[in-house]
Amino acid sequence: MKVLILGGTGEGRLLASELMTGGLSVVSSLAGRVSSPRLPVGDLRVGGFGGAAGLAEYLRTEGIFAVVDATHPFAERITANAAAACRTTETPLLVLHRPAWHPAPGDNWTLTPDIPAAAAQIAPLPPHTNVLVTTGRQETSAFAGLPQRFIMRAVERPDGELPDHCEILLDRGPFTLEGERRLFAAKDVHKLVTKNSGGPMTAAKLTAPVSGASK
Ligand code: NAP
Repeated sequence: MKVLILGGTGEGRLLASELMTGGLSVVSSLAGRVSSPRLPVGDLRVGGFGGAAGLAEYLRTEGIFAVVDATHPFAERITANAAAACRTTETPLLVLHRPAWHPAPGDNWTLTPDIPAAAAQIAPLPPHTNVLVTTGRQETSAFAGLPQRFIMRAVERPDGELPDHCEILLDRGPFTLEGERRLFAAKDVHKLVTKNSGGPMTAAKLTAPVSGASK
């Protein structure tokens, strides 16, 4: 009874440990984007499958009994591939959904469809505005050329072009409320740009902002 967990998340690691404790055989799959990822217990495979067809082939050849899609809510392609591959191979699929974050009373959120649109919201702000960006290392080039002062927090150094005033903070969650408060105060953060990733592990930044900060 081998279960494939599509992971790259804290939930994926937790589930691998729980299923193994329950006596199931588990193989976790990571995309391989991060050079030193936190590893789940149990067997591991790393790298893309080659689309839905490649994943279907993997399910057949490895004799996978069931698949759990525990990937990040913004990892849409692998989620679509998992649905298609499980459909064609008639493999049971469980998809873990993280509830999205919602603004609390007094919060001032601007919702944008993507990161370039978020950058367009930042562009007209005064140059001395300190902006904390936690959207990951991809697509940070959307902020290149903007005059504001950026703090980019990511697990690994962003690949693309960066703004002129940019500090890179290499760090990974989970983050505590106390730690986030310290960061917001130390860097005098005025704006936070984040994905609405949901879940508790990186939610402390939503309540950490010092007065005047908004998202
Ligand atoms: P994506 O756009 O949905 O996936 C792109 C391609 O990467 C997929 O088509 C697949 O390649 C491969 N892939 C993705 N997740 C995989 C996995 N768990 N195992 C094997 N191959 C995988 O995904 P993404 O947004 O680049 O995210 C990549 C991974 O990072 C995910 O596993 C996700 O859980 C984790 N993550 C993502 C974010 C985020 O903000 N997007 C944040 C935290 C963690 P093939 O088509 O070749 O199979």
